[in-house]
Amino acid sequence: MTAPLFKRIAFLGIGLIGSSVARIARERGDIAAEIVVNARTQQTLDRVMALGFADRVELDPAEAVKDADCVMLCAPVGAFAALAERIAPFLAPGAVLTDVGSTKQSVIRDIGPLVPAGVHFVPAHPVAGTEYSGPDAGFTTLFEGRWTLLTPPPGTDEDAIEKVAELWRRCGSMVERMEPGHHDRVLAIVSHLPHLIAFTICGTADDLADESRQEVVNFAASGFRDFTRIAASDPVMWRDIFLNNREAVLEMLQRFMEDAQAMARAIRWGDAAYIEDKVERGRKIRRSLIATKQA
Ligand code: NAP
Repeated sequence: MTAPLFKRIAFLGIGLIGSSVARIARERGDIAAEIVVNARTQQTLDRVMALGFADRVELDPAEAVKDADCVMLCAPVGAFAALAERIAPFLAPGAVLTDVGSTKQSVIRDIGPLVPAGVHFVPAHPVAGTEYSGPDAGFTTLFEGRWTLLTPPPGTDEDAIEKVAELWRRCGSMVERMEPGHHDRVLAIVSHLPHLIAFTICGTADDLADESRQEVVNFAASGFRDFTRIAASDPVMWRDIFLNNREAVLEMLQRFMEDAQAMARAIRWGDAAYIEDKVERGRKIRRSLIATKQA
């Protein structure tokens, strides 16, 4: 077996994403020799011990990071500033500090200034997930064939970046570097706006009069059903994503609303060619996703 990348990895937050990485680390053995887990509640930590992918659990994040040569923040992005403040004095010199947060400019803004000299901060985002959360939700194939985007600030230690990249490759992921602002715009359109639309459409359906609401549930066609799957995601995680990628989400939403308005106009005026063209473009995108195995 290849030597482990790290002697000790500490996970701060252990839901779908953290517990998937921890399960892979446990199963492969070549990511970290020791796995320490921190979460907010003892209940989660008890569950983690029962699930068997951690060597040790700690309720205090500062205790969890002591002597760890890799620390991975896996809590909602809104919790990162407080976590970073709590752990900063206890991070080991030379340690790699990384995260899995869905927004990257805010993470760099919140954590960057708190990182002690000699600690290497490598922000990352595995673009993979499901609508489930908590330590039971993780699984070892979650990242297979999916992208992980690294957004290291200029001047970040290259060896540290390579170690984080290798960690994600060992998780089955493909890795690419991206500028954080570009990351946030891309994710706003491919992930954050679709979730916003899903939450909104479910809210609209829920606002309907009682008898129509029951019919929505009874006769949900696949279109609405797909939206409800997306809308089942964790509220705190999504609250934090919207609030921390505000500019990009608002920009994409504005563009979407203009395009939706144009579609409404085409329907009103019977512009069949416009409608057909829009649907055809959607099909084309779907086909290209299937071709690149990202469907
Ligand atoms: P999750 O399943 O909801 O788990 C969240 C974990 O964070 C739990 O262990 C929770 O501890 C802990 N936590 C929650 N609030 C906290 C706080 N205020 N302070 C400290 N710890 C806190 O979350 P997830 O889906 O794995 O997402 C984790 C991160 O990955 C987020 O930043 C998210 O943006 C990012 N991400 C998610 C996805 C996705 O599809 N889910 C994909 C890519 C990236 P307790 O259980 O003790 O409350």
